[in-house]
Amino acid sequence: MKKVIVATGNEGKMREIREILQGEDIVFSSLKDENLQDVEIVEDGSTFEENAIIKARTISDLTGQMVLADDSGLEVDYLDKAPGIYSARYMGEDTPYTVKNNHIIQLLDGVEGAARSARFVCAIACAFPDGRDITVRGVIEGQIGYEEKGDHGFGYDPIFYVPEFGCTTAELPPEEKNKVSHRGKALLAMYEELKKEKVL
Ligand code: IMP
Repeated sequence: MKKVIVATGNEGKMREIREILQGEDIVFSSLKDENLQDVEIVEDGSTFEENAIIKARTISDLTGQMVLADDSGLEVDYLDKAPGIYSARYMGEDTPYTVKNNHIIQLLDGVEGAARSARFVCAIACAFPDGRDITVRGVIEGQIGYEEKGDHGFGYDPIFYVPEFGCTTAELPPEEKNKVSHRGKALLAMYEELKKEKVL
């Protein structure tokens, strides 16, 4: 059995990773499984990829194991790609998302149609014990809606309108969102990379 550590404390992400990357002789272990949940990781990269590598590399150096980590966020073109890598911290980590979402809607007051373009980005890094890192990126394109809509998902989902589906990602059932989301796409790209590396 090959062990891959996933540098996340998020159970939802663990489930999705196990579903998409499952293989015959591979077992995915979370930071909690490894008793590493309290390791401090300074995410001071300037891109999603850099932050994903920082997380994966920190845990790989500590354990000598292969480690996967992700970093994601929302880019709003009209706001020069903010909140971007600061998506979780935008307006304060503990500020309710309904406040953050309505603030973004207000900042886009008077901005119409295609000028409201935005995307969710997810970078996934894999750090190997021999010091190599690989990264992949998944993206879903959309627009900032005019009001919050939908009860599924989390974070910025209620204001992320996808013209192709005619609804926000908060209006899509979780299985539907996973099929088309930035994270789902990045995981599929990582699946291909790990096949090439003969890990899967
Ligand atoms: P992290 O990669 O788990 O640190 O997530 C970064 C932040 O990006 C989250 O806290 C959310 O604010 C935002 N985000 C990332 N993916 C999504 C998504 O699928 N829906 C809504 N918000 C997201």
